[in-house]
Order: sequence, then structure tokens, then C-alpha cells
Amino acid sequence: MFLFRIRRHRHPLVAGIVPALLLTACAHVAEPPAASPGVAAGERGFAGGVVSVSHPLAARAGADTLAGGGNAVDAAATIQFVLNVVEPQSSGIGGGGFMMIHLADERRTLIVDSRETAPAAASADMFAGMDFRQASTSGVSVGVPGTLLGIELALERWGSMTLAETLKPAIELARDGFAINRHLAARTADPRAALYPATAARFRGDDGTPLPPGHWLKQPELARTLALVAVGGSAVFYRGEIADAIVAAQRQSLIGDDGRGRMTQADLAGYRPRVRKPVEGHYRGFTIQSMPPPSSGGLTLLMMLRLLERYPIGGDDAGWGFGGRHTLHVMAEAMRLGFADRAAWMGDDDQVPVPVAGLLSDCFLAPRGALIDLGKRMATPDAADPWPCHEHGAMSGDEASLAAQDEAKGTDTTHFTVVDRWGNVVSFTSTIESAWGSGIMVPGYGFLLNNELTDFNLTPRADTASGDPGSNDVAAGKRPRSSMAPTMVFRDGRLVLAYGSPGGSTIINSVLNTTLNLIDHRMDLATAIAAPRFSVTSARGTIRCEAGLPDDAITHLVRLGHEFGQDVDPPRCDADIGSVQAIAIDPESGRQHGGADSRRQGTVIGLP
Ligand code: GLU
Repeated sequence: MFLFRIRRHRHPLVAGIVPALLLTACAHVAEPPAASPGVAAGERGFAGGVVSVSHPLAARAGADTLAGGGNAVDAAATIQFVLNVVEPQSSGIGGGGFMMIHLADERRTLIVDSRETAPAAASADMFAGMDFRQASTSGVSVGVPGTLLGIELALERWGSMTLAETLKPAIELARDGFAINRHLAARTADPRAALYPATAARFRGDDGTPLPPGHWLKQPELARTLALVAVGGSAVFYRGEIADAIVAAQRQSLIGDDGRGRMTQADLAGYRPRVRKPVEGHYRGFTIQSMPPPSSGGLTLLMMLRLLERYPIGGDDAGWGFGGRHTLHVMAEAMRLGFADRAAWMGDDDQVPVPVAGLLSDCFLAPRGALIDLGKRMATPDAADPWPCHEHGAMSGDEASLAAQDEAKGTDTTHFTVVDRWGNVVSFTSTIESAWGSGIMVPGYGFLLNNELTDFNLTPRADTASGDPGSNDVAAGKRPRSSMAPTMVFRDGRLVLAYGSPGGSTIINSVLNTTLNLIDHRMDLATAIAAPRFSVTSARGTIRCEAGLPDDAITHLVRLGHEFGQDVDPPRCDADIGSVQAIAIDPESGRQHGGADSRRQGTVIGLP
């Protein structure tokens, strides 16, 4: 039975299906609808700013920052530091992230890339002989953290508050404590919370048992670390006593010497955040900006949207509309195609060129789209070669071993979105990769170290014979490929939506689902975020779906040959995918709206 009831306005402009090879010709026919996307009829919204965050204490701190005169960058810094305290398993100064900032006055979007880097001593074969679990729970997986320097840079250039001011609420919460929510409590049962003594001492009871919901958690070591940073800035973290402690901590390993981290003090002292421009594409008259390399998030999202644009996704014809059998089928096929090309071509393009223009070109995507057949699941697609479309030499690649690794990845991380009274927006996805990162806490300093380097290919792929460039093979100083996709949507040059999600490689699909819900299905933010999600993250992978999608559509997908990795008929949709935090701005009135995800403790606070 179709349990998920959507509030939907009729989409006036999406017509019938256009044959695949007419991708170019039809791509821009649809005009954006008149109503403001994501805004529920009659919803008044706010004018003084909105925060949408996965934890109420972090949302409160962000809202207080806005109320005190801070801008969206100040609020984002405050929120991130508080999240380090209240969601220590998901993000923090031991990790990295992408802070997408839209500056209202300049009508300009940029991203502060604080993605972790591989240390200078890293090598393509450094994970040899390790499986994902071994690699990801040892120091060898720890990348040079970027979050703190990224925030410091953003505050210096676009904030109005000092680092110390934005750290204050986090320091107080770490020192005085707070009642942990059921999500953190559940995570303390994860074996990763107890692999290393310093982590277990903080996140397990005296007898080693998980912490119950409501447990009052104080983190004096973390409070002290944040206080040191408040006084000394990022320098105390990247040089000196904290740097020494990080280097020592990542020498720990559960699997002997090979599993030890290779990071040195010089790697920390040499870390630099990067300021990047978003990748940009168009969908049904909207302009979509999202995360460029080293993330695969934005590129894969834009490719999938382009492949889907010719279908009447939001239409009322049989099989279309939300949860329709054709809708789900073409979504699955677009995901399989997008992920096939992602595996071969995407990585840190500061080190290996990524054919961004080629991948997004109609020259490349029209033949890819022609593989989609409404009557059957396509055979597993190999990656195609975007370079001829990019006006470069030819290469080829095929999607091989990545699927299993990608499926095994964590679903933690966090995404939050902020708009301030001036209309500046921050859409920030931040991570330590798996829940609890590597599981290694820096003893005496109270923060967890990421395991981001497992986002690299664990087995190198570079191969001159096949032409595989090894885009995501480990190399010194390189950033591992991410899936994070902080995203902003514009109409007539004005920002109307901003959102993102955690969830490893499913991030890209959560952002895709949300985009279709808001633009095609004309849902308001709350409905678009609550709607059941649907995801496949590799060309030969199995579909995962959330409860509430119609059984008959799922049965149809099985009939077409789709695989769900389950032995039940119809397959059960029981996954839990992503956690989307979003804002919307009505371009006419300027009123601001927020939507947050109840899959975690998503909280929206608006200011009048
Ligand atoms: N490390 C992942 C990425 O950068 C995010 C992990 C997650 O969302 O759980 O894509």
C-alpha cells in the first residue's frame, strides 16, 4: 500500500516523454513553476534568519548567533563547534568538510574545502592486504584534518565574529555537559566507540556498557582543547602540543605496523583549505550549484538530473509522479549510469584531471541516456569515455571493485544549512567519515580522528593499458574523493533552496531525491524531506529504499530486472537513508523557511 501521502501541486509544465537522443533539444523547454519551491501554501516564514541542523542544541547555538547580530558564516562556525560536542561521532575538528557559502550582496557562491589530505608519506598501495574494516579502524586511514582551518579561513574572510566567540557555546557544553540524545546513545553501542581506550573512557560507562539516552555527558578534555584554540587560534592545533598529540594518536593500529598512520608534524603544519567555485548545471529552468572535485557529489548529481530531465517525473501520467514505477525505474538507471562514470573519472582534480565539462556535456550524456529503456533494466553499464566530449585525448575505464567498498561506508557525517537576515546562506556538509571516524580519540584532547582516507580506492586502479587514470588512488597530499554534495538552487539568479545530506555515497541520491521532490513533485520542504528515499550507488549494486514506497512499483522494478539484495518478494523497503537539512527563500517576499530531517533530531529555528 502507498503509505506516504504527499502534498503536491500540479506541475503545469512537464509534458510527455521525449526520445532519449533528443536530450539536447528538449533539455531547456521546461520553465520554472511560478510558486516558490519548497514553501508550503500559507506558511509565513521568517525574515531574521533560519537554521536547520540535525541537533537541537547546535541549532539553538546557531540561532543565538544570528540573533546576536552574527551572519550565516558566524552561525555555521558556532553550529559546527557545538556539533563536535553533541554529535562527536559524526563531525568535528578531527575531520573535514565542505562549507558552501552564498554571499547575497555579491550574488556569488564559493566553497571552503577543508577536506582531509593524505600525508606526504602516503602511497597508492598503503592499504594492501587490509579489508575495509581493518583499514578504517587504524591510524593508516586518518587524513590530515581540515575543519578548524577551514572555519578559521571562512570567519576571517566572510564572518564578523572571532574564532573565540564562535567557540564559546561549544566550550560551555563540553565543560558543563548535556543530555545525550537517542542517536548518540545508540552509537555508543557501536564497537568503534570502544576500540581504543581513550574513546571508550569517554563514550562508554565505567563497566564498558553503552551510554543510555539522557546520560549527562561532560567532555572536559574537549573543552580544554577548544579553549586552547579560542586563545591560540588554529596554530595551536596544527603546530605544537595538539599536533604532537595527533601524530602520536594516529600511530595506533589494530593490525600491526602496516596499520599505523604516516602523518607527521610537517603534514599538519602544511595543511591548507582551498576556496573553490561550485559546479553548475540547469534543471527544469533552475540553476543548480553543487560541490566540485574533490567531491563526486555535485558532478554525479548534475549528470543524473540531466539524464532525468526529459522524463515527466512530476507528471500525472500512469507510472509517473512520486513513487511511480517509471519514476523509480528511471531514477535507478540514472543512478547506475552516474555512479559508473563517477567510479572511473572522479577524484581530486588538483592531482588527476577530472573531465568536468565532458561529463556534463550533452555530447557525453545523450548516448548515456539512450541506454535507459522504460521496459527493462539496462545491462550493467561500464563507464564511458568523457574525454572526446571534453576536447581531449581518449581513455576508457570500467567500474570494477568500488561497489563493495562504497556500500560498506558509514552513514554518519552531518549536514546543516543557515540563512541570515541579509540572505547569506551556508550549506555545510561535515564529516569524520564513519561513525566515530577511525575510532581513535586523541588522548588528553577529547576529539576523534577521521578515517577519511578510506574514501580513496583501497586497491589502486591506475592502469595505462585500460586507460584508467586512477582518479581516486591514494597519493601524497591528495584529497580522497567525497560524495558530499552541499547544494544550492537558483531561479533567475536568486537563491531559492539550499540543502545537503550525510550518508556516504547515498548522499548524492538523497540530494537527488530531495531535488526531484522539490522541483518535480512540488513538495514543501517538510514533505520533501520526510518522503521515502530510493538509492543505488553503483552500476551493478542493489537498490535500497525506505518504507512508504508503493509495493506495486517495487514489484514492477523486480520484473524489469532490478536487484534489491533481498530474498523476499516484493523486496522490503526498510532502509534509513540520509538526513537532509534545508532552507528555502521565497524570491518575491524574501521570506525564509526551513526543513529538517526527523531521521535524526533535525531542528529548525527561525528568527522573526
Ligand atoms: N566520507 C564520506 C564522503 O566524504 C561521508 C561519509 C558519510 O556521510 O557518512 O563522502
